[in-house]
Amino acid sequence: MVKLIDLSRELYHRAPTHPDHPPMVINSWVTHEERKKETGGFSSTSMVLSMGDHAGTHVDAPRHFNADPGAPGIGELPLEHFYTEAVCLDLSRKPSASDITIADLEAACRAADVDIQEGDTVFLYTGHHERTFGTPAYLTDFPGLTRESAEWIGRKGIVSFGVEAVSPGRPGENNFEVHRVCAEMGFTHMESLMNLEALVGKGRFRFAGFPLKIRGGSGSPIRAVAILEE
Ligand SMILES: [Zn+2]
Repeated sequence: MVKLIDLSRELYHRAPTHPDHPPMVINSWVTHEERKKETGGFSSTSMVLSMGDHAGTHVDAPRHFNADPGAPGIGELPLEHFYTEAVCLDLSRKPSASDITIADLEAACRAADVDIQEGDTVFLYTGHHERTFGTPAYLTDFPGLTRESAEWIGRKGIVSFGVEAVSPGRPGENNFEVHRVCAEMGFTHMESLMNLEALVGKGRFRFAGFPLKIRGGSGSPIRAVAILEE
């Protein structure tokens, strides 16, 4: 039997957003009542959305962190990069605002009895979402990769990795370095995921998280889903 796990955060008015990106503004465009009045009977409702291309659960396009004019925008990446095999590493013992080291990643692979393989998406579960979502700490206090540990997963030939935090490295230089590694080694990452605890101990599974086809997009919100065979 196939079980689908939703890894995306809900999008809603004033939902928490990384401070480098525009706020999420979502409101009613027209209500059933208003529309009924206009049409004399037919009714419909719709919303208006204003947000950055890095709003909510999203994936970064290479052009976001790579100034090379040839770096692909979000709509230019192959769909295969968003439909891959995946593993999840349990890093929930890491304290907030700590560095995730190569030793941490190796130990988590051993504990989960998984190997990271070429073409994989790797999820890093830290418990950050559950611990901090809805508090100011959500945007600042999380464990993050370093240049060295980001290079370590990059050397496995992954296409992407995903974190619960709003950035893969801790705020500031740490985060810049992780993004530089992605540019140098040619992989990317997803931010603001949730429900990763449901993937701990599940071994290999399939992941789907397709971006919107935004022309020139530097990233895109995604509906991230883990597909488990049970
Ligand atoms: Zn990023």
